Amino acid sequence: MGLLDKVGQFTTAKELQAAGLYHYFRVIESAQENTVRIDGREVIMLGSNNYLGLTNHPRVKEAAKAALDKYGSGCAGSRLLNGTLDIHIELENKLAKLVGKEAALVFSTGFMVNQGVLFAMVGRNDTTIVDRTNHASIIDGTRLSFGHVKKYRHNDMASLEQTLTHCETDGKLIVVDGVFSMHGDIAKIPEILDLAEKYGAELMIDDAHGVGVLGAQGRGTADHFGVTDRTHLIMGTFSKSLASVGGFIASDADTIHYIKHVARSLIFSASMPPASCASVSAAVDVMVEEDWRLTQLWRNTDVMMERLQDAGFDTGPSQTPIIPVVIGEDMMAFQMCRRLFEEGVFVNSVVSPAVEKGDALIRLSLMATHTEDEVHRAMDIMTDVGRELGVIKAAAS
Ligand code: PMP
Repeated sequence: MGLLDKVGQFTTAKELQAAGLYHYFRVIESAQENTVRIDGREVIMLGSNNYLGLTNHPRVKEAAKAALDKYGSGCAGSRLLNGTLDIHIELENKLAKLVGKEAALVFSTGFMVNQGVLFAMVGRNDTTIVDRTNHASIIDGTRLSFGHVKKYRHNDMASLEQTLTHCETDGKLIVVDGVFSMHGDIAKIPEILDLAEKYGAELMIDDAHGVGVLGAQGRGTADHFGVTDRTHLIMGTFSKSLASVGGFIASDADTIHYIKHVARSLIFSASMPPASCASVSAAVDVMVEEDWRLTQLWRNTDVMMERLQDAGFDTGPSQTPIIPVVIGEDMMAFQMCRRLFEEGVFVNSVVSPAVEKGDALIRLSLMATHTEDEVHRAMDIMTDVGRELGVIKAAAS
């Protein structure tokens, strides 16, 4: 087979486009808010990771503008060489304090954090032990590291223990999403730590969906369980609650010192631009000061969960503002997505291979800035469309 044959043979997306069921790369004409404009039409956004609703916050935008004026548009180099600004260091200190660790290191994306940290921490004679449903950036990180990899069944402690007993290397790192990005359930961190300590492993939490959502003032999953001191590495991203792009790793000062001199995705890639860095710093301040956001995010989550369950939807194992609705076949999830969009609600579908065949989902996610009226309106539409497509039973007459 020639190099380019795969291009011609890739027809899945074109088939969906022809059937009017393609909903990727939708073009948004407004800010990432509780409602967005698409094709000139306002739709309720239930497909964003902007959990605290900070991407359009005046203080966050002002901070970005001021940094742009002072430092220009980019750093033109990596952190190691010419790309470290005073505001990178300030942000690192703020993040370390936020998650309760000695030191932090900022990367240009969360994806790059996982690649760089796993490359640095897991050597030839070590093993990464991962939950099967961890994020793709962790899986790719294990591929870049020279160590061994073992997977355990999702949130299954017996499977984790069995994996640990069969792990032959001395160096072991368990890596787990704090909040699982597709199903919205929370990792069993205290049990994972008990097993890690029993078998001599360290723990790294990917808290992309935990920071800003769990713990006091949004400090994350380790804080939520009160186990920050027992968790060696805490990773976070700025592309969700923290309203920008970039990511960080936090740990003790020696570990961060080591990672910053070894992680290839940090050393060989340009540093976070000044405007992004300043907006994240402002977003952390606003998150801590405006604590009503966390409260409202969880209130919206409770309302939506209750409405979905009352209507008869299967919301899977969700415990957070990420709420999956189990639909079944991929085609039905695409149809549901299309009908919801036509009726004014933006959602994402999750189909195989991201989930098992036959377990396709609609992934809903909330923001602190959704009004309760918007949540109810979206749920009225969701119920009508669910009945129309036979995903839930019609109301008894
Ligand atoms: N980890 C998890 C669990 C994620 O959901 C994501 C983003 N989808 C990442 C890491 C990567 O983060 P970023 O968007 O900053 O690259």
